[in-house]
Amino acid sequence: MRKKIAAANWKMNLTIQEGEQLVNEIMNNHYQFADNHEVLIAVPFPYLSILKSKVELHNKFKLAAQNISDKEAGAYTGEVSATMLKSIDINFVIIGHSERREYFADTNEVVTAKINLAIANDIVPIFCCGESLEIREAGNQTDFVIHQLLNGVFHLEEADFLKVIIAYEPVWAIGTGKTAGKEQAQEMHAAIRSAIATRYNSQVANQISILYGGSVKADNAVDLFSAADVDGGLVGGASLKSEDFTAIINALP
Ligand code: PEP
Repeated sequence: MRKKIAAANWKMNLTIQEGEQLVNEIMNNHYQFADNHEVLIAVPFPYLSILKSKVELHNKFKLAAQNISDKEAGAYTGEVSATMLKSIDINFVIIGHSERREYFADTNEVVTAKINLAIANDIVPIFCCGESLEIREAGNQTDFVIHQLLNGVFHLEEADFLKVIIAYEPVWAIGTGKTAGKEQAQEMHAAIRSAIATRYNSQVANQISILYGGSVKADNAVDLFSAADVDGGLVGGASLKSEDFTAIINALP
């Protein structure tokens, strides 16, 4: 049975004191977990070691990083490598988030390099893809997203691809309060799953978790997550409030 995942992306928000308080609140809330449920919390680099034991005290909760370098090691001031994350036992990382693609020149080539380093270090990549408003309005969203997959992850061998989590995040829905409707999300998730079946096979396609991201909130999560090919969400703004994120976790089908 494929995993249903609620993933928080704190981005560049919260002090460590605020982060600890948020984690305490989240960990103290009540959940109805099924066997295939998982919760990921992607926090800023300096907080990973501090929050690890608190978050992973509960076996359904795992900590994630928000990025890694596309370089293995060396004279790259300010960068954090996949090997460094692995050395502090971090096993999940967001790669190719649209904010990194837009503001930090994470091209498809850079994203591919990061995916390869995550896989080489046995870190699960949460691979983000999604179209801009302009591309959606031109009706080219499916081709665009499949092209991102072809560039970013479809070069992987089947065994490595099976480790990947995909997050479809239409750029026009991130942090804007606009969400794709359930049908729009389902249509793209089904297209992604079908592209996976074509590239690999239908068993692989059935095992890959495809998360939706883009203004997921406590009041729309149940509806979005009820779509057949939506396996949970990658959540920015609403993951910064414990009651909202808890409601989103409890919306996992
Ligand atoms: C995100 O950061 O990936 C995201 C989807 O943000 P938000 O939920 O705020 O739109």
